[in-house]
Amino acid sequence: ETLEERIKAGIRDVPDFPEEGVIFKDITPLLNCPELFHEVIEHFRARYEGRDIDHVVAIESRGFLFGAPLAYAMGVGLSLVRKPNKLPHKTFGVDYALEYGTDRVEMHVDGVDDDSRVVVVDDVLATGGTAAATCELVERCGASVVECAFLIELDFLNGREKLEGHEVHSLAVY
Ligand code: IMP
Repeated sequence: ETLEERIKAGIRDVPDFPEEGVIFKDITPLLNCPELFHEVIEHFRARYEGRDIDHVVAIESRGFLFGAPLAYAMGVGLSLVRKPNKLPHKTFGVDYALEYGTDRVEMHVDGVDDDSRVVVVDDVLATGGTAAATCELVERCGASVVECAFLIELDFLNGREKLEGHEVHSLAVY
């Protein structure tokens, strides 16, 4: 069994959540399997070892679940990207388009240093809007995105296209 097969066995499809027609990828079985959770974090840690990474930037909210243990394992700083008005200090924000309407992500102005090398982490790459806006935030701080790392990539939504110009790494592709 490959790592991808083991990860897929730890992901549950939930039809019509959070709305009709969406098949939600539920990662909670994976989180509740300590060997598999460990293997995922260890995979990312080994991948970025020796690549002069200064910060992990994790995207609200399930990105925190992977970004925090990864930053800890790598011995680097963790910065949070959140939905509007959640972060207490002064923030930068980037708005991005959704199918209907817009959304926004924010990061503290001192979230990353201006010459930092950053790994962006989230659980799922879907349309790529959230991750692309996060890269823009990081780059607006003067830092550079070494790679965007995801547990899951929903290939049919073409998130990679929105992240053009950035390296993308995902462990389980659907
Ligand atoms: P995007 O901006 O369309 O790429 O959406 C990515 C964001 O939506 C990520 O922060 C994910 O956590 C969340 N997301 C989208 N689809 C799913 C899913 O099927 N399961 C869990 N999270 C999802």
